[in-house]
Amino acid sequence: MSNFKRVINVIPLTSVSLSSTQIFTYLVPLPMQDLLAPGMLVRIPFGSRQIHGLVSSVEMHRLPSEVRGLKPLEALASSTPVLSEQNLALANWMARYYCVSLGLTIKAMLPKFVKRPKDPGLVGYENFNPDFILTDYQRQAVSHIANLLGTGATILLNGITGSGKTEVYMQIIERLLAAKAQVIILVPEFSLTAQAVERFARRFGIENIALLGSNLKDSERLWMWQEIREERRPIIIGPRSAVFAPVRNLGLIIMDEEHDPSFKQYDQQPKYHAREVARKLSEIWSCPLLLGDATPSVTTYFSAGNSVLRLPHRIMADVGLPKVRIIDMRREMAARNFSIFSEALKSEIVMKLKSGKQIILFLNRRGAATFVMCRDCGFVSVCRNCEVPLVHHLSAKNLLCHHCGKKYPLPTVCPSCASKRIKYFGIGTEAVETELNKFLGSELGDKPLPVVARMDRDSTSAPGAHREFYENWVEGKIQIMIGTQMIGKGWDVSRVGLVGIVSADTILHLPDFRSNERTFQTLTQVAGRAGRGADPGMVILQTYNPDNYAIQAVRFHDYETFYLREINERRKFRYPPFTRLVKLTFADTKMEKALRQADTAAQRLKHAGESGLEIAGPVPAFILKLRGRYRFHIILRANSSAHVDFYSLLQDLSAGVDIDVDPETLL
Ligand code: ADP
Ligand code: ZN
Ligand code: ZN
Repeated sequence: MSNFKRVINVIPLTSVSLSSTQIFTYLVPLPMQDLLAPGMLVRIPFGSRQIHGLVSSVEMHRLPSEVRGLKPLEALASSTPVLSEQNLALANWMARYYCVSLGLTIKAMLPKFVKRPKDPGLVGYENFNPDFILTDYQRQAVSHIANLLGTGATILLNGITGSGKTEVYMQIIERLLAAKAQVIILVPEFSLTAQAVERFARRFGIENIALLGSNLKDSERLWMWQEIREERRPIIIGPRSAVFAPVRNLGLIIMDEEHDPSFKQYDQQPKYHAREVARKLSEIWSCPLLLGDATPSVTTYFSAGNSVLRLPHRIMADVGLPKVRIIDMRREMAARNFSIFSEALKSEIVMKLKSGKQIILFLNRRGAATFVMCRDCGFVSVCRNCEVPLVHHLSAKNLLCHHCGKKYPLPTVCPSCASKRIKYFGIGTEAVETELNKFLGSELGDKPLPVVARMDRDSTSAPGAHREFYENWVEGKIQIMIGTQMIGKGWDVSRVGLVGIVSADTILHLPDFRSNERTFQTLTQVAGRAGRGADPGMVILQTYNPDNYAIQAVRFHDYETFYLREINERRKFRYPPFTRLVKLTFADTKMEKALRQADTAAQRLKHAGESGLEIAGPVPAFILKLRGRYRFHIILRANSSAHVDFYSLLQDLSAGVDIDVDPETLL
């Protein structure tokens, strides 16, 4: 018996070079021998450190030579498995697909195992069961989805806001609950407000809902995680990371507003997209993935082909879609109107105020001025870390870098030529607020002024601020709301008589293959805020590019026309879905060093000569210097049909490279 040794294979929960093995073998000390099982957490010596690892398998070895030189495992860190077989399979797939080390992927899937899990105490709502009957479209959608339960199908449900998608989800969820299955509902980060959860809670009871919002404390998240694992709360609602919930009997994954950018983790590894991970998870569990959206991503719509389920009308058929007027701001200039508001927008604001309607003014940019320039020498204030223009913030009375958050004092003289003629260019939400107050003051004279609120990242940073805005708005205490895309999401607001899009062009000119798509989606969503009560409302869209097809499509709420044009562009310029992209980033505090690394990598990749693969770069990143580091990109582009194995291709690159598979943007 002494010839047998028990060993375990462990995945260290840390970053490990892709070219090395991702699983390491350890000796099991005698007292721990019967306690170990795959999926458990252990402490292991790793290099000079002691870290957590996940047990992948336990084995017996006969020959002393096989175990010679192995280090013993340090301790057990969990008494039961923390990762299911299914989620381990998911992690394996993710690591390969996104070219990330396996241990790092698993780490991203697990909660922090703090000492004392704590019930976050979700508040309940009065139960509500609707008494309406489904529309024909809804009935067809429900029966189509119900037929696909038990298969790993991906289903796209395309319908504008108010067309009854959520009701379809709930009908299917009812069936799943009856069958004791679990459902994961992924929602955009912003929608995770109480209002969004409320509807599910009213229908199914809060005790059936597990909420995994990003505002939970570690102890609360662990508590929810345990509830899910014990199958006590079958309806799991959360942002992208909820796709890793420890489910045991998954029956359906729903992803609402599938196109939303928050579904992609772009700022740290693993840089996954929840849609792709959910697709894999649905395959693993043989359960459908249901994508719901008014403006699906072009890639999703393309792959859905003819099988798209449609809810083509708003439920309240008598409420038409808001009328969208496009205002050519070049003409306003020519007519010597230099205000940020067109004459049309000004007169609509006055009219809607008179009739007691609420107004939204949208601009996708915070701050007062987007850059600060000396009139005499042209000097522009930039961030020392990032070399991007600084944004003027009135309320904080400073200049702020929107990339690294560094603050600078307002310049009184030009740092370059000492001139005092410093001018602020470009507009943000703060500037809209200032201009609006000026306009209202002169327009309304001594009449009482309407209550104006500004909602953006700066004004909602305090805890509870979000909710307060919402309540004041719903109660009609705020007449005009100025805001960034934050106001376009999550709220089911009615009575909006007017949505003014102050500038439709903020995303349009970014040199990126998705800028038309993002423009269309963002503006359509904001425009959809108008007229959800009894009257269709009005949208005024101000732009310097009235002929752009994305903007024209917003005018007629016309996804199909937008899509047909966009998919042609993608085909012509060889972008997804026709190709797959990988973005490599090389960064260093020294520009030459970053560039040299990128160059070496590019040479190597070109030398590998994979067929069907294009290698572009190195090119400087759109923001060359970020947080003190210079950045260069290499873009890999492969025909979708070529099935290039990026993992094998990239595993030997230097440790410093950052890999982003299926990047949402090339900036
Ligand atoms: P979406 O999720 O597409 O925005 P919802 O499912 O929220 O649409 O439906 C919009 C509104 O219409 C909700 O208030 C919902 O309760 C109601 N509703 C949904 N289906 C019906 C129906 N068949 N008959 C009447 N009202 C409905
Ligand atoms: Zn100057
Ligand atoms: Zn900066």
